[in-house]
Amino acid sequence: MVGARLDSYSISVHKRRTDRGQTQRIVMMRVGIAMIQGARHEHYQAIKHASMEMQQEVEVVELRKAEQVDSSIDGLILPGGESTTMRIASLSESLLEGLFDWMTKYPNRPVLGTCAGAILLAQPTKGRERFIDLDIARNAWGRQKFSFEAGVEVTLETPEQSTNVEVELSRDKFNHKPLPMGNHAIKSESEQFPGVFIRAPRFIQDSVKCQPIAHLSQEIVGVLQGEKLALTFHPELTGDRRFHRWLISRIMDCKQ
Ligand code: GLN
Repeated sequence: MVGARLDSYSISVHKRRTDRGQTQRIVMMRVGIAMIQGARHEHYQAIKHASMEMQQEVEVVELRKAEQVDSSIDGLILPGGESTTMRIASLSESLLEGLFDWMTKYPNRPVLGTCAGAILLAQPTKGRERFIDLDIARNAWGRQKFSFEAGVEVTLETPEQSTNVEVELSRDKFNHKPLPMGNHAIKSESEQFPGVFIRAPRFIQDSVKCQPIAHLSQEIVGVLQGEKLALTFHPELTGDRRFHRWLISRIMDCKQ
């Protein structure tokens, strides 16, 4: 088991042996994160952690302006947070429009949208076709105090870790304490995914026309449409990186 801190992260080898002794192909890839608002720094950590678990180098690009969202971006993360705030905050640099343009131009490049990110995929700006075929209801579990954590059944096939890398879940440079949910969830990578639902939206169940890949009891809480994965919860606030590994592996496949 390797102990590591993400800020000292670097992999410079381009071809290496996995723990199982097979030669692994290393692909150069750039993953963009929409840095408008919300849990963007946690996604940064999560994708770096997943890249270490997979021994696959990932360059993470912090996207703040529309012009940064160019053809060099291989995959995208739309974090959770507050979608109205994101829409307003992105007006000055047109980032959301840039992201939507990019998704329209490169429909086969993988995207992970979580919580507010899922809302943006289902309800992009006016005049645009939605990227996932379903209706979504915002704040549909009630107010902030009705946020919760619960086990989610995942049917999406996700790549295994090739190395077990232990990473401390830290929130920020100010030494603020992580929420207890993060600490409980960090060890868990069992069948059930530790679903963190924060003022989460709900997919309108009978409107879902894409592939369900995650359920909370009977309710669909994760869907896949082509290369777009939308979750109503926050995987980046846990230590379970399977959805971030999915993103990396889909990019590897798409770049073959
Ligand atoms: N309630 C938020 C919205 O409507 C989404 C919640 C989240 O991303 N945690 O945008």
